Amino acid sequence: MSRYRESACRLCRRENLKLYLKGDRCYSDKCAFDRRSYPPGQHGQRRGGKISDYGLQLREKQKVKRTYGLSEKQFKLTFERADRRKGITGTNLLMMLEQRLDNVVYRMGFANSRNQARQLVRHSHFLVNGKKVDIPSYQTRPGDVVEVCEKSKNIQTIIEAVEAVVRRAMPQWIELDKEKMKGTVKSLPVREDITMPIQESQIVELYSR
Ligand code: SF4
Repeated sequence: MSRYRESACRLCRRENLKLYLKGDRCYSDKCAFDRRSYPPGQHGQRRGGKISDYGLQLREKQKVKRTYGLSEKQFKLTFERADRRKGITGTNLLMMLEQRLDNVVYRMGFANSRNQARQLVRHSHFLVNGKKVDIPSYQTRPGDVVEVCEKSKNIQTIIEAVEAVVRRAMPQWIELDKEKMKGTVKSLPVREDITMPIQESQIVELYSR
């Protein structure tokens, strides 16, 4: 899979929004967005001109794609699946992204960022309903129990992430048992749980062009 290897902070500055891609650093005074909240690059501090409809749609897509750390191909594929489901495509898309195992691991607080969560999932540190699952895109469902493997419970990265989870709001659809390092997906996520400013209808417009 292709990976973005440039500075994650440039992405926040480009999207003019904190995307929380770097775990602890995002909550510290080292956050590059808090220090320089203008676009990166030589002309970043220039006032931009009027943005076109296409530009707006593209920015919304990039914002969501970068937040969840997906490649262009993975994102398009998720969009197509969301489009085939009943209901509002844009909402379906966001809910499917939320239900990804890497996102659920992050939301439960077993990782400080989605990137870290993806890596931990790939390295087989989690069980879903008692079985090892190492596929970050695995779609969790209501009732699923996600837990840290017994042998991984002493991994410092996971311990520190669980300790630090209090600084993030836990969505209603997730429950965490900190002591047992076990979480439950109580229900399907709802649109209101996503507090980041996203206009998902713009993404639908983009792909309908
Ligand atoms: Fe974005 Fe700040 Fe985190 Fe960097 S440290 S990824 S700028 S939120």
